[in-house]
Amino acid sequence: MPKKSEKKPEVKLPPELKGKPVKMWSFRFDMKKMVVWSLIFFLFLPAVFSYMNSGVSDATLTVTEAMAEIKEKKVEKVEVLGDSIVLNYSDKKIKLSTKETGQSFTELLTQYDIDPASVNFEVSNGSFWDSLGGVLNVLSFVLMALFFVMILRQMRAGTGGMGGGMFGMGKSKAKLFAKGKQSVKFDGVAGVTEAKKELEEVVDFLKNPAKYTKVGARAPKGVLLVGPAGVGKTLLAKAVAGEANVPFFSMAGSEFMEMLVGVGASRVRDLFETAKKASPAIIFIDEIDAIGRTRGAGSMGGHDERDQTLNQILVEMDGFTPTESVVVLAATNRPDVLDPALVRPGRFDRRVTLDLPDIEGRKAILSIHAAGKPFAKDIDWERIARRTVGFTGADLENMLNEAAILIAREDRSEITNLDLEEAATKVKMGPEKKRMFNAIERDMTAYHEAGHALVTHFLSHTDPVHRISIVSRGRALGFTLIPPAQDKYQSTRTELLEEICTLLGGRAAEQLIYNDLTAGASSDIDRVTRIARAMVVDYGMSPLGPIDFGPQEGYSEWGRNYLEPTDVSDSKRAEIDAEVKKIVNACEKVTMQILKDQRKVMDQVVNELKEKESLERDDFERIVGVTKEEIRKTQKYSVVYK
Ligand code: ADP
Repeated sequence: MPKKSEKKPEVKLPPELKGKPVKMWSFRFDMKKMVVWSLIFFLFLPAVFSYMNSGVSDATLTVTEAMAEIKEKKVEKVEVLGDSIVLNYSDKKIKLSTKETGQSFTELLTQYDIDPASVNFEVSNGSFWDSLGGVLNVLSFVLMALFFVMILRQMRAGTGGMGGGMFGMGKSKAKLFAKGKQSVKFDGVAGVTEAKKELEEVVDFLKNPAKYTKVGARAPKGVLLVGPAGVGKTLLAKAVAGEANVPFFSMAGSEFMEMLVGVGASRVRDLFETAKKASPAIIFIDEIDAIGRTRGAGSMGGHDERDQTLNQILVEMDGFTPTESVVVLAATNRPDVLDPALVRPGRFDRRVTLDLPDIEGRKAILSIHAAGKPFAKDIDWERIARRTVGFTGADLENMLNEAAILIAREDRSEITNLDLEEAATKVKMGPEKKRMFNAIERDMTAYHEAGHALVTHFLSHTDPVHRISIVSRGRALGFTLIPPAQDKYQSTRTELLEEICTLLGGRAAEQLIYNDLTAGASSDIDRVTRIARAMVVDYGMSPLGPIDFGPQEGYSEWGRNYLEPTDVSDSKRAEIDAEVKKIVNACEKVTMQILKDQRKVMDQVVNELKEKESLERDDFERIVGVTKEEIRKTQKYSVVYK
């Protein structure tokens, strides 16, 4: 039976498990299985015996047959065990029969006209099997009772906050990477130079805690790694452990949560206790926003479990003694929603920001993950790094992996530029889907995409069209790829207006050609509205002026975004809506103008698109007859919004 939680085993790994992530205390589950299996075994055993006892075998006779045998004096001796009649023959053979319960054997003999005195028989009251079955029945009840007592004890331990929990529910599921086996080092994380510099101090502290404590410096306790998903937060945390050569305990914020209140807190306690024993060590909590949200912010109230878990983290971090060199690294992409108590001095008081990699970063990440894969000689890495603006480290790694899968599937030996292009599209847009289009749907999709492409092409502050396709991917029936031509951290008013035009291009083409609309433009419309609204309320780009109209985007308890300006009067709200409409109308006007002017070109693009399914930039510019650079010079179209 599992021991109470106060007695925790030392963290010692057998050699074969070193370096591998292991689930801690997994023996608890084995214990449970053992009890369950033995219970099943003992419950079924009596049934097996009574089956054996039912005399279903070759040597089984009906009562009439048995009586006939006795009458014919074939039987040497009869034993009556309860209701079982055992016929012993002179040649040592045995046959079985069963009489009715309550009828005595003598009565039975008389009934068949046999003189009991002429038969050599012996009667004993209960059969061995019967008594064994009885004992086993009692045993199974005892075992069952024991089993329930055990469950109750476990549950009490789980909710009572003393660790333990239902089948170890309260135990942390932290993955343990043994010391020295964390193979990732700083040079395995590319493009995050500043972040690495900031974390070097943590590494130094873990290597030489005494150096810091000697001069009374407060040791770094918590570092918040902030950045979008896939930029390498987990990787960097592992690299810190690798550089400092200390164990790494990792757990995701959501893993602390269970339906029972108190389990999360108990897991936190356990995680910290285990890490402290292995000190110096690193604890990594991924998605800390899952637990670290501002307490009591829930509109529905009652978030006891999350609050308790968060409180426990705070308690643990405050409770580090100077000799315990444990550093907690936590990752989030929503630092704005974190509880202020979590980011106070002495807790997560350092913040390291990881951004999407820039062109140099992308080149470095590509070179790390390209190792070991076969590439054609003419791979233009510079171009690929330029083409992948907006890709995270995880996207890039994924892209190279997809390219490798592609050549493996087709049994080719080298990854080409084309494979990388295909892989990049797949990473961003999802895999190709063979859908059965009907002709009209296919035409409308082609016009929709040609609309996007032509509008963006004829405007002067937009990026060049990279690819148009009517092969469906993910949920999209077709797509027009316009990746940013270079890393950009700002957008101007003109660029935003032209982006709205580009987004409206698809819907405008449907309107122009078919005088009808499809539902396919819904995500375009969604983005158009967001950009236009942000221009008015966040960026001060409308005649309403540079006034902050309150938070536009909040987080509801269910994780959904809601758009609800606060602190804005009803009349101001109406003005905002009117401005949004004005922006969209102004953009729609230019969009429609471009498409009307380019109507013939649009038909040509659509025809080639239907024939080839995908058009690359060169094909597209050849059909249109004018390059992006030329259009930039002429600046023929512009949005008028004042
Ligand atoms: P995050 O924790 O920020 O969501 P991860 O650290 O889990 O991201 O990144 C996922 C994978 O992407 C990593 O295992 C690694 O292969 C790759 N990756 C991400 N960023 C980088 C980077 N800067 N350098 C090298 N590889 C990276």
